[in-house]
Amino acid sequence: MKFEKVLIANRGEIALRILRACKQLGLKTVAVHSTADRELMHVKLADETICIGPASPKESYLNIPRIIAAAEAVGASAIHPGYGFLSENADFAEMVEKSGFIFIGPTADTIRLMGDKVSAKRAMIRNGVPCVPGSDGALGDDPAENRRLANEIGYPIIIKAAGGGGGRGMRVVRSDAELDDAIALTRREADMFFNNPAVYMEKFLENPRHIEFQVLSDTHGHAVYLGERDCSMQRRNQKVLEEAPAPFITPEQRAEIGERCAKACVDIGYRGAGTFEFLYENGQFYFIEMNTRVQVEHPVTELITGIDIVREMIAVSAGAPLSIKQKDIQLRGHAFECRINAEDPKTFMPSPGEITRLHIPGGPGVRWDSHIYQGYKVPPYYDSLIGKLICHDDDRELAIGRTLQALDEMVIEGIKTNIPLHKDLLTDPVEIKGGASIHYLEHKLGLDKEESKKE
Ligand code: ADP
Repeated sequence: MKFEKVLIANRGEIALRILRACKQLGLKTVAVHSTADRELMHVKLADETICIGPASPKESYLNIPRIIAAAEAVGASAIHPGYGFLSENADFAEMVEKSGFIFIGPTADTIRLMGDKVSAKRAMIRNGVPCVPGSDGALGDDPAENRRLANEIGYPIIIKAAGGGGGRGMRVVRSDAELDDAIALTRREADMFFNNPAVYMEKFLENPRHIEFQVLSDTHGHAVYLGERDCSMQRRNQKVLEEAPAPFITPEQRAEIGERCAKACVDIGYRGAGTFEFLYENGQFYFIEMNTRVQVEHPVTELITGIDIVREMIAVSAGAPLSIKQKDIQLRGHAFECRINAEDPKTFMPSPGEITRLHIPGGPGVRWDSHIYQGYKVPPYYDSLIGKLICHDDDRELAIGRTLQALDEMVIEGIKTNIPLHKDLLTDPVEIKGGASIHYLEHKLGLDKEESKKE
């Protein structure tokens, strides 16, 4: 391997996941952490640790100069950004490489290309990846032309910020009368939040599923796809429960879309692990965006393919060729991931505090990716994800049974968790059938009614 010491620029379960992969590869590890995170599991296990600032993410995990300075101080060779925080920040990737470290992920140019949704869509169209019908690039200022375009696409349409993210900077439009105001408003928001006033137009899909393809790509012109995941169970654009493969997707559909995603990776010079996100409606896939990093839900794909995604992404960033070929990738069985959050299962209010009792289930096909332990205090400053329960079995029905069994055995006391929500979901007839849309969970929770009351 070209490098020896990896700095992990993240926290929580993903930091521990990365630390484990590094240790297995014989790499030295450096944990950077905030003052609120001294007791994190991966901080205890790392070869070296550096405190990079106070609890506020802005002053620690999002503070580029401090992270680079830490890498210099310990003589790190590479930096793994994990997910969230700086993982899709092109300026960070650029700074990392300019300072002489390897960024474990794609180049800054690729992150920029995919971070702009207009340029990302262009690259996808060029490679035959199906996109939502919409404007060819950013919208101009001519109202008549925009109206013509909207009618050509057909209402409802959605106006989206080219630089948008985190579910912000988009607005659904149902008629000509709303169009001009919606464009002006979204433009203003886009400028304010993303520093880029460019907006574009897309057909609005009313009841899609969220299906995403995992890819791995090396610097020798090889890319593979590892099948797809269904992440339609969402609340407020946050994924709650994921599975792989996606129900009712045929091997032919998988091969067709997967091959195009892999081709796009080679075309844009992609490096590392990535995800192509699609909306899926009436048997059609529509690309919405690419995530240029490892994702929270990567383990469901690992369990059905037997491929260690984090290990591969580290190896290809060090210049190694992918260890696998497309023809060797077989999907086996079915896997579910429950995101276990420290939150009230009914009100969804965060529930930080000390874990007073902990029992983790085990047995065949049960995996637990988490940094928590008995006595650990969940801090109030960060995302409420405290662990991921991932269960695998020969088919979907067995995998549901195994996940429910594991949830029944799990004990987390001292804080509230959303375990009851997962038990409820996995016994829900619509979920058991599979293939529900992205609106199902909010509908089940009655949140869609709350939203319409507000309007
Ligand atoms: P972000 O980068 O903010 O996450 P995305 O482009 O991934 O933005 O879209 C986020 C969510 O918004 C999608 O998961 C979907 O629920 C909704 N959405 C985006 N585009 C469309 C569309 N064309 N039709 C219907 N829903 C959409």
